[in-house]
Amino acid sequence: MLVAILAITALATVFGLLLGYSAQRFHVEGDPIADQVEALLPQTQCGQCGYPGCKPYAEAIVKEDEAINKCVPGGEATMLAIADLLGREPMALAEDAEKPKAVAVIDEQECIGCTLCLQACPVDAIVGAAKQLHSVIASECTGCELCLKPCPVECIHMVPIEEEVTHWKWPYPVRESLADAA
Ligand code: SF4
Ligand code: SF4
Ligand code: SF4
Repeated sequence: MLVAILAITALATVFGLLLGYSAQRFHVEGDPIADQVEALLPQTQCGQCGYPGCKPYAEAIVKEDEAINKCVPGGEATMLAIADLLGREPMALAEDAEKPKAVAVIDEQECIGCTLCLQACPVDAIVGAAKQLHSVIASECTGCELCLKPCPVECIHMVPIEEEVTHWKWPYPVRESLADAA
């Protein structure tokens, strides 16, 4: 019995030392500049920039000189903020980021309550339960379209929301949705 306890203690000590060494040896320092860029991004993790989330996009901007114009929900304001932070030239929004703003709307007649859209939405903008009608909280929807593909009956549609140019901040117009402006 004593031998077993001693063996377990010895093993625990060895593993503890190994873990401690690994933590020190393979510790990856975060990049404080990338962290600052990430803090400017909307954190919707929608993937519309072509990266699997805001953090990888921020890291690509800082470490790989990726373009600063790809965040769709962030739009001009985010692009300008990143340009300001990094001392880069502002640039026109990427093609995808220039799409008219739209929100997802679920056709109530068609929805079968499968919950697949609910699971796909990165910002929890869809409410519903199994075998019940699902609906989208328009104010939470970023228009990322990630819910469209999983829907087996194709009953989710993107509906454009009206925008107007409220003022200009050279060389870019700053837009605001009419709903926000109200
Ligand atoms: S498009 Fe913007 S909000 Fe969406 S994941 Fe990329 S950086 Fe984040
Ligand atoms: S488009 Fe769909 S997945 Fe994207 S935020 Fe709106 S409801 Fe969620
Ligand atoms: S994926 Fe389509 S059918 Fe399924 S709950 Fe969502 S809207 Fe309804």
